[in-house]
Amino acid sequence: MIQPEDEAWMREAIAIARSKGSDPSTSPLGCVIVLDGRMIAGERNQTQELPDATAHAEMMAIRRGCENSGDMELRGATLYSTLQPCGMCTMASIWAKVGRVVYGAGRHDVHQMYFEARHVDTLDFVAEAYRDDISIEGGCLRAECAELYYPPDADLSEEEQANL
Ligand SMILES: [Zn+2]
Repeated sequence: MIQPEDEAWMREAIAIARSKGSDPSTSPLGCVIVLDGRMIAGERNQTQELPDATAHAEMMAIRRGCENSGDMELRGATLYSTLQPCGMCTMASIWAKVGRVVYGAGRHDVHQMYFEARHVDTLDFVAEAYRDDISIEGGCLRAECAELYYPPDADLSEEEQANL
C-alpha cells in the first residue's frame, strides 16, 4: 500500500529527476533509497555524462547507498524510482537485498523507448526471486512521474528512441 510518506519520498525522486532539466529525451529518472526513515542515496541517471550504459538512476543509487551504509546489503530499505525499473535495475534491487521497490509511472504510462525489451515483466522478477522479503508496487504519484517522459503515443523518430 502506498502511504503518504511514500509520496513525499517520490517527490524527492521527481526533484532529482528534474535536477538537470526536464527534457524527456534525456530519460530524466530519479531514484532515492530510504533506510530507517533516512535518505541514504538520491541519484539521477548518468549514462551520458559518465558515459556508462549501466548508470541508470537505480544502479547509481544502489552503489551510493551501499557506500553510505558501508554494507553491500540494503535490507529493510525502500527504493523509490520515478519510472518502473528496467530488468537490470530490478535484478540489481533483488541482489542489493532492498526490502521494497516503489515506482511512479509504469511501463504502459510512458513511451516504449524507455525500456529494453518488449514483454519482460519485471514484476515477475520480484515474484520469482528466491527471496520472499522483497515487494514491488507501482503508481505512486503516477501522473506526476509520467509527465517526465514521452507519452505512450508520442511520434518519435528512430533516432530519438534510445532503445533502438
Ligand atoms: Zn534501469
